[in-house]
Amino acid sequence: MTVRYVSTRGGEAIDFEQAVLAGLAPNGGLYVPTEFPQLDAATLRGLRGASYQEVAFTVLAPFVRPSLRDDELRAVIEAAYSTFAHPEIAPLRRLGKATRTAADGDGADGASADGTELHLLELFHGPTLAFKDLALQLLGQLFARFLARRGGHATVLGATSGDTGSAAIAGCRGLPGLDIVILHPHERTSAVQRRQMTTVLDANVHNVAVRGSFDDCQALVKTLFRDPEARARFGLTAVNSINTARVLAQIVYYVYAAVALGAPERAVRFCVPTGNFGDVLAGHWARRMGLPVAGLVVATNANDILARLLATGRYGKDGVQPTLSPSMDIQVSSNFERLLFELHGDDAAAVCADMAALDRGGFDLPLPALAALRAGFAAGSADDDATIAAIGRCARDRGVLIDPHTAVALDVAEQLCATDGPDAAPMVVLSTAHPAKFPDAVERATGQVPPLPSHLADLMQRQERYAVIDADEAALRGVLDALPA
Ligand SMILES: *Cc1c(COP(=O)(O)O)cnc(C)c1O
Repeated sequence: MTVRYVSTRGGEAIDFEQAVLAGLAPNGGLYVPTEFPQLDAATLRGLRGASYQEVAFTVLAPFVRPSLRDDELRAVIEAAYSTFAHPEIAPLRRLGKATRTAADGDGADGASADGTELHLLELFHGPTLAFKDLALQLLGQLFARFLARRGGHATVLGATSGDTGSAAIAGCRGLPGLDIVILHPHERTSAVQRRQMTTVLDANVHNVAVRGSFDDCQALVKTLFRDPEARARFGLTAVNSINTARVLAQIVYYVYAAVALGAPERAVRFCVPTGNFGDVLAGHWARRMGLPVAGLVVATNANDILARLLATGRYGKDGVQPTLSPSMDIQVSSNFERLLFELHGDDAAAVCADMAALDRGGFDLPLPALAALRAGFAAGSADDDATIAAIGRCARDRGVLIDPHTAVALDVAEQLCATDGPDAAPMVVLSTAHPAKFPDAVERATGQVPPLPSHLADLMQRQERYAVIDADEAALRGVLDALPA
């Protein structure tokens, strides 16, 4: 079987290499696999006790053949996860029983002996302390390999308000054939966020502080991407969350966690702090591969377009509110388009119509599609007060410090588990960032300042390098012109 990739907005199927290098399809769509290789029970049993890298190989091999030989894929995986600070890459931590009950909103001592088992899946042991490292470390290695094969050069260009930029830089640093240029708003990111980018001194890393807002940065990047001459001249490419390889890489930790908790004999549920829907979509793709997943929960902060969709059937824009979990502050979830394509029975024309309606404000899911969505996903949201309360409860009752994104998911998981029966499947809460990445919220909730892990302990003393430019296109072109050809 060979997996091919098609755009959610129609057109020819292409292979893995083409889909990775393209990122976004030329027609504005997102690439999705034409089929899902199956992980049968024997294969899952065979993964018991296997390393994360071995699980990654088993999951990814059928998606990348024949673009990569098996030995090439193994090398890519080894290199990608060699930068992690934990030998298990994505360790599970037992949290004990869900302690809230339906009757007891805040339930410190509502624990019952047969409450649902909760686990944290720690996805923050990569170089920038957030789960995006799991996908971007792999994507950087894939880019480098495909470019080397073509004898080409590419420039990754992106804008960041903090988080994605550092993970992209960490994924691309030092790779041959690749430069990376990341714009951030000058003096408007936290010092830790800026330093995670600007202290990376590899020759192919170019940080640019723009005198302006994050929106100004993004507008500059978009202007260049919209110009075919500039795209070709600078070999521009993007590594944002729309790249298919990122979603595929994220399937791995669902399989790794489920096997550790007893798959294929026992099914588990996952509760996922969600912004652009890439992470939870990977869980759905794991389920389509045959992984026994008893439920997927979409956890949102006050920016709850997905929770509203599940409740009402309407997908409608509603502005963006800043919250304590900024990486989930989105107006629309770009990866939702991939699920929409599936819900429409792979009908690209229906997706195009919905996306045009979204530009005008929103659209309604047809009833059968809404029913299918509700059969596959539950949803809940937690506002900033609930987030702070969840961080505080988790520290006090379980002795574990969690970051605000994880706290959104834990709160939603506890809300949901409050109505569980005695035989409910265990709930795995995805822990997407290290608490030290968001020290202010953690301190507010617990009075404790979480320390940076040892490999970043001297971050505030390291040397920085970055350029500062005005928010105009000529200045950015000047930066790109100065790159080595
Ligand atoms: C990006 C991010 C999320 C949201 O992930 P999506 O794939 O966009 O849904 C959640 N938590 C953290 C810490 C993130 O950086």
